[in-house]
Amino acid sequence: MKRAFVVGSGAGGATVAKELQGAFEVAVLEAGKAFSPLSMGLGAMEKIKRTGLLFDERQMSLVFPTLRIRKTPDMVLVKGIGLGGTTTIATGNAVRMDRDLRAIGIDLDAEFEEIYDEIPISAAHQKRWHKSTRRLYEICREMDLDPQPMPKMGEYDKCIGCGRCIFGCPQGVKWDSRRFLQTAVERGARVITGCRVERVMIENGRATGVVAQHGWARRFHPADLVVLAAGGFGTPVILQNSAIPCEPGLFVDPVLCVATEWKDAGQHREIEMPFAVQREHFILSPYFDYVSFFYNRAWRYRAKDTLGIMIKLADSSTGSIAQREVRKTLTAEDRQRLGEAVELARGILCRFGAREEDLFLGTVNAGHPGGMLPLTEREAASFHHDRLPANLYVADATLLPRSLGNPPILTIIAMAKRVSRMCRLQE
Ligand SMILES: Cc1cc2nc3c(=O)[nH]c(=O)nc-3n(C[C@H](O)[C@H](O)[C@H](O)COP(=O)(O)OP(=O)(O)OC[C@H]3O[C@@H](n4cnc5c(N)ncnc54)[C@H](O)[C@@H]3O)c2cc1C
Ligand code: SF4
Repeated sequence: MKRAFVVGSGAGGATVAKELQGAFEVAVLEAGKAFSPLSMGLGAMEKIKRTGLLFDERQMSLVFPTLRIRKTPDMVLVKGIGLGGTTTIATGNAVRMDRDLRAIGIDLDAEFEEIYDEIPISAAHQKRWHKSTRRLYEICREMDLDPQPMPKMGEYDKCIGCGRCIFGCPQGVKWDSRRFLQTAVERGARVITGCRVERVMIENGRATGVVAQHGWARRFHPADLVVLAAGGFGTPVILQNSAIPCEPGLFVDPVLCVATEWKDAGQHREIEMPFAVQREHFILSPYFDYVSFFYNRAWRYRAKDTLGIMIKLADSSTGSIAQREVRKTLTAEDRQRLGEAVELARGILCRFGAREEDLFLGTVNAGHPGGMLPLTEREAASFHHDRLPANLYVADATLLPRSLGNPPILTIIAMAKRVSRMCRLQE
């Protein structure tokens, strides 16, 4: 049987591994290790915060190695490294966001149908919302903002509302891509952890395999097919190392929270992002922002007394990444849209009862990177760019035509399913 290497085990990689194993002998090469949720409790974390020893967001990786943080002058960039990729630290949101793909002639109806059969998705968590969340929801309705309960991936009837989704679900409620990976392994796929792929070897216009660092050793892994799914930050670096240029179109979906002190708001013990308001260039959603809570000096209230609304912006496709250096700034248009969103969030919180002068802002942070090898009409049928050898594919957020300003996992899975279908033609 022909050998396929899938690089990365997040939303895209785990999907491809599951779909291709059997047609190919699949090995998943994953830079990180097995995932386990953060065990430290919020009480202990708040004590550390009070010592004043928390001064740089990158410290979070020391206690929770899955969380990898980089900084640019404008924002903090977050990603997950390890089995399950960034899906293990996701908040479980499941939205179909293929409007831009449809606009360039890509119909993913069949793929989404499969996804809805394979992943339990439900928005029936409203009964367990905290009083403050219910009130925020009512206010958004009164303001004609059409708030909608957020569909979530997993068995949310078992959710205990502990508010720790971004540290990994201790109850195993939340779906993450390790479930697809497990299916791939049961079908015979191999998973190799601690294996960081540096580049794809290309000879006579064909990919012959990948070069990867495993501990101290650097090895060549020969393959008949290579699928890159190292995420929006990882895949462009591997492509560029392999002399395949990418587009300077990196987007990241920046998040900014507007918050207030509110006694016993209880948002830290709540399902994260319980509902969302969709606007043209951003969404609003109640959110306890851990990054700001620990590292932004304006966030000085107890966790239980902090109430926030997240703005998630669909940003301009204007960034790039080369090796470790990410270039990503907020453009004038991004700032203007962010300003509009802040005004709306302030309006909601003031209706809630907060005083205008008591509101404070969080740190801009972002964790939805993608867009550096975007699909266009030219690749709508093949899902394959001309600049790639015929037996090299990309299957992650790198393919998205532009920022969704929305949770991308379902859409990435749908694209990865289509890529798998195209790869099977090479069997
Ligand atoms: C805090 C947070 C919450 C989020 N919540 C949601 C949500 O609720 N819903 C939603 O839809 N989206 C959410 N997202 C975004 C979502 O998790 C990501 O957009 C999605 O997982 C990206 O999928 P991917 O396949 O492109 O990359 P990833 O899932 O990031 O997977 C990339 C994989 O490649 C591995 N890798 C990287 N480089 C290499 C290399 N050189 N060699 C080998 N392996 C490598 C990584 O370890 C990782 O396993 C959230 C993101 C964050 C940060
Ligand atoms: S809030 Fe629910 S889904 Fe999130 S970590 Fe807790 S139990 Fe898991």
